[in-house]
Amino acid sequence: MNVFSSLVGQEHILRILQDAVAASCKDDESHEMTHAWVFTGPPGSGRSSAAVAFAQALICPNQGCGACNECQSAATGGHSDVEVIRTEGLSIKVEEIRELLTRVAWAPSMGGWRVVVMEDADRLTESAANALLKAIEEPGTRTVWLLCAPTLHDVLPTIRSRCRHLQLRTPSLEAVTNVLKNRDHIAPVMADFAARVSQGHIGRAKYLATNETVRTNRKTIMQLPLQLGSLAAAFQAAQTFVDLATTEANASSDERNQKEVEKLQKAYGKGATSRGMATGVNKAVKELEKEQKSRSTRMVRDSIDGALLDIATFYRDVMMVQSGSTELMTNTDMREQIESHAANSFSHSTINKINAIMEARANMALSVAPLVTIEALMCKLAIK
Ligand SMILES: [Zn+2]
Repeated sequence: MNVFSSLVGQEHILRILQDAVAASCKDDESHEMTHAWVFTGPPGSGRSSAAVAFAQALICPNQGCGACNECQSAATGGHSDVEVIRTEGLSIKVEEIRELLTRVAWAPSMGGWRVVVMEDADRLTESAANALLKAIEEPGTRTVWLLCAPTLHDVLPTIRSRCRHLQLRTPSLEAVTNVLKNRDHIAPVMADFAARVSQGHIGRAKYLATNETVRTNRKTIMQLPLQLGSLAAAFQAAQTFVDLATTEANASSDERNQKEVEKLQKAYGKGATSRGMATGVNKAVKELEKEQKSRSTRMVRDSIDGALLDIATFYRDVMMVQSGSTELMTNTDMREQIESHAANSFSHSTINKINAIMEARANMALSVAPLVTIEALMCKLAIK
């Protein structure tokens, strides 16, 4: 077991990363380290896990053993030479990058490398990207930048042209099932179900396999395409869809928000009565709540996007039945309903419906009000 064993189905990039780590240890000029990398891959392929594993290996004296202090503190965010930037908001602003650059301007404390992992490089604003560009281009630095994004097109051209690109793959159904069984000790039948309906998204698969409420919500969402008999029903389905996705997102953020506020109040000394302290803490809590609100917005969007992808698998299965191939059906638990839906509709209309779902996903990203977008979608799905 080393840090790279957490990468599932990514054998094609493993060698590149291990070679880079080996070369980075030799301090001679002929092995010049690449200072900026972009990890791309579909959601759930583990691009940020790959970047973090690489960061661990770069600072570990044993090239990523996974067991030493360096490896462990880097993974939990406690290593002074490894910084993992996770975005809570919808964009990364130039002020945040400037602040980051002053933090990483120091030489690495252990004398090796300083590594910055940026999980959502696609959320950099243009001015933030320009500020970052200067740092990436600086010669002779000991900082290595590991940027993550869904695709290379999501990274601004100026940045991506200076990075080495690694493309992660969607892990196979078998690979995900095995991880759930062997790493997370999930029962085989559940592991198989969760891996299949999560379409290679390991995090989502684990979440589904270990959370009954999430499974129940998914089931309700998957039944919606069968309940679109009238326009009124389509509007009702849209409301149910948005409510469920929002509740799921809020359930995970509410508890976290509360903890953060308590931690902040504690830092200020809870019950501080002097006027100065009270004003300070109130202001800080207000700032925090603003950030939390923007994070919640993002989580609701992610949750809606996940539910849209779930519904898309229904129509994909319908299309498969209509084209006569059912071996790769995702929702085998709904086989009967899918077959009956396929018999009562035309394949060209199924394709239109899948397109409509993809269009709704794109509209969501353009910050259209969720309910309006989903209502329009359900009306399209209701057409025979
Ligand atoms: Zn180690």
